[in-house]
Amino acid sequence: MTIRRPLSLSEALYMRQGADTVLMAGGTDLMVKHRAPAGARPSFTKDVVLIGHLKELGYLKVYDDVARIGAAVPLAMIIQDASVPGYVKEPLMSIGSPSIRNMATLGGNICNSSPAGDSLTMLYALDAVLTIASAAGLRECAVSDFIEGPSKNRLAKDEILVEIAIPLMDYNRFFYRKAAQRRANAVSKVSFYGVAQVSEGRVGSVSMTLGAVAPTVVRDRAAEAMLIGAEADGRHGLSERALDHMDGLVVPIDDLRSTKAYRRRVALGLARHFLEEVVGL
Ligand SMILES: Cc1cc2nc3c(=O)[nH]c(=O)nc-3n(C[C@H](O)[C@H](O)[C@H](O)COP(=O)(O)OP(=O)(O)OC[C@H]3O[C@@H](n4cnc5c(N)ncnc54)[C@H](O)[C@@H]3O)c2cc1C
Repeated sequence: MTIRRPLSLSEALYMRQGADTVLMAGGTDLMVKHRAPAGARPSFTKDVVLIGHLKELGYLKVYDDVARIGAAVPLAMIIQDASVPGYVKEPLMSIGSPSIRNMATLGGNICNSSPAGDSLTMLYALDAVLTIASAAGLRECAVSDFIEGPSKNRLAKDEILVEIAIPLMDYNRFFYRKAAQRRANAVSKVSFYGVAQVSEGRVGSVSMTLGAVAPTVVRDRAAEAMLIGAEADGRHGLSERALDHMDGLVVPIDDLRSTKAYRRRVALGLARHFLEEVVGL
């Protein structure tokens, strides 16, 4: 096993061509996955290509309607940037701890492709688009098309995720909550993310996602469609219908972190809180 440190993105892409390599950005997932007994070096069976230092993956630009974030930007840099809206930052602030967020990258959270990945509910809800590079050029892919299941995604062996584009809107309501064993360094048992734009008592747009209740993040576009144009008048009729519909998409599992029953109950409870208390439906 060799550790390679390319000087540019094109050199990294060259190293990926025709070879079975593993990319390492912040290493906060990989070093845990490949950990060895205390005192021993982590063991990798493939060559490792380091990408966390590449300047082509290290930019953060925020325009009126989109945030463009290089895949190797550490979460802490996004959180500290005053031009990034709070509804983008909030889930990132729940990841790990300050030291983890200094190393962990947004691209790594996406490519790790865990249904409990805390950036993913936000990225699905906001229709984030990924730019992926190979020696043949660039391609774009919606984050929801990229992730196929737990730890499975559509990244080819010769590709590198380079950018995450997050469309921005003037949302005036948002809510993110994760239920976990403790407040730091804990993987979500279940999570909910919601944003809405409410003006003159009506819902202009709304987007809601659930994490860790199915093999990938769940977004219920049919439930969202029921709510668009609705009066936020606190009568709860529409929120009940939307919650019933979302219930049908929630297929949680029992595992070491939690149970199906807990996940379903908390997921729908968080969705209810968003719809009734935050949006006012
Ligand atoms: C103590 C601790 C607490 C944690 N808490 C949380 C938490 O609360 N919530 C949460 O969601 N996660 C958590 N994590 C997991 C981890 O920190 C995040 O998933 C992080 O964002 C991964 O980023 P990274 O740069 O460290 O990824 P890496 O470990 O470098 O890589 C992760 C995967 O992504 C691939 N990859 C990385 N960058 C690219 C790229 N640009 N193109 C293609 N593939 C790429 C790698 O090959 C690897 O398969 C925690 C981890 C630890 C150790």
